[in-house]
Amino acid sequence: MQTYDWIVIGAGITGASLSYELTQQGYSVLLLDVDRNPPSATRFSYGGIAYWSGTTDLTRQLCTEAKIIHQNLSAELDADTEFREIDLLLTIAPESNPETLTAAYANFATPPQFLTIESACELEPLLDPNGIAGALTVKHGHINAAKTAQAYIQAMQRSTGTYTIATVTQLLKTSVLTTEGEFFAANIVLCMGALTRQFLKNSGISIAQYFTHAEIIEIPSSSVQLSTLVMPAEAERFTLEANASRDDAIWDQPGQEPTPAILDAGAVQFRDSRILIGQVSRTLTDPNAAIDARQSEADLRKKISRVLPKVSELAGTWQHCLVAFSGDRLPLVGKIPGHETLHVFSGFGNPLAIVPPLARRFAIQSKGTPDALLQQVSLERFTKNG
Ligand SMILES: Cc1cc2nc3c(=O)[nH]c(=O)nc-3n(C[C@H](O)[C@H](O)[C@H](O)COP(=O)(O)OP(=O)(O)OC[C@H]3O[C@@H](n4cnc5c(N)ncnc54)[C@H](O)[C@@H]3O)c2cc1C
Repeated sequence: MQTYDWIVIGAGITGASLSYELTQQGYSVLLLDVDRNPPSATRFSYGGIAYWSGTTDLTRQLCTEAKIIHQNLSAELDADTEFREIDLLLTIAPESNPETLTAAYANFATPPQFLTIESACELEPLLDPNGIAGALTVKHGHINAAKTAQAYIQAMQRSTGTYTIATVTQLLKTSVLTTEGEFFAANIVLCMGALTRQFLKNSGISIAQYFTHAEIIEIPSSSVQLSTLVMPAEAERFTLEANASRDDAIWDQPGQEPTPAILDAGAVQFRDSRILIGQVSRTLTDPNAAIDARQSEADLRKKISRVLPKVSELAGTWQHCLVAFSGDRLPLVGKIPGHETLHVFSGFGNPLAIVPPLARRFAIQSKGTPDALLQQVSLERFTKNG
């Protein structure tokens, strides 16, 4: 019977990066996922790296570390993450006040700069000038998140890692039961994204993590060329997450919707010309809740048509996935209190700017050197405060 040092459950960007970093510390690692290409948040991610967006010492430190890691990651992993710098264009709706919105971004590490309607349309010629009152812009990092996860997985397999397709059905203290049998390890870490809470609940463990149903339109390839990554300056998703995490208990009751759905109209294009139009975020507490795809697609097309009319007409497919979040916009990283061998690396709402340094720090800390920064994202912050 083989006993791994670590079993990592979930091969999205969190599980892939953490598996790799654990192998870099010399551990034997078994990474498990249900499928080689599951419809995960990583698969449908825009891939934006908001390393300009730190607002506290903690997030500024992580963003600075992440920028350096992302810049060097393709070389380190010997596979292309498609990293580049892109102009982020935060559109200001005609009814909004540009001055108020510009001021709202003042405390970010690099505050986005205001652009008049004319300058915004020069930067992004596909914009409809009648659909905006101006825009904000800042240099944003960009990767293909799915390819980055693949690059991490291949690198960990070349090291001391094993990647196996198996659905984990039950969590035990030092093993997991899966569709492919039982696997044993000294430590187990859950990187299951949105499903982490429900999965732990089945083992009698509660954690303060929630999720949205994200809905997007995927355009496989297009001759239309987006020059920027477009998102609204007034993103409603963060308010939705704050409201939906107020009542923790409701998340244990399927069939609830803690707060009404929102639609942040945005679009991004990848190097292979694939475009994603997003995104509806819905807080339905049942991961398998039925969603009216036709209505959702119509809503997405209508809202994006106000800013990017040509993009709104492109033929594509409606897609859906689940995205995790926590109550304070920071992830849940570390040991599950009271369970020495069980760990979580999840709850990342907007993770690409902070996952790589946190994965590295997690792996280094597991060798025995406590990391004060990791203390700030530990699960204890919620259990201590009740
Ligand atoms: C449309 C959209 C745009 C986004 N844009 C950005 C952005 O620009 N910047 C940013 O930073 N973030 C963005 N995000 C968020 C980001 O992509 C996600 O938060 C991140 O990819 C989540 O990674 P993860 O590894 O936690 O979860 P996931 O990618 O969901 O991976 C979890 C994995 O666990 C596996 N799993 C689940 N249950 C089991 C089981 N029982 N057994 C085995 N495996 C299991 C799943 O199959 C899955 O592969 C976006 C998300 C979406 C949907």
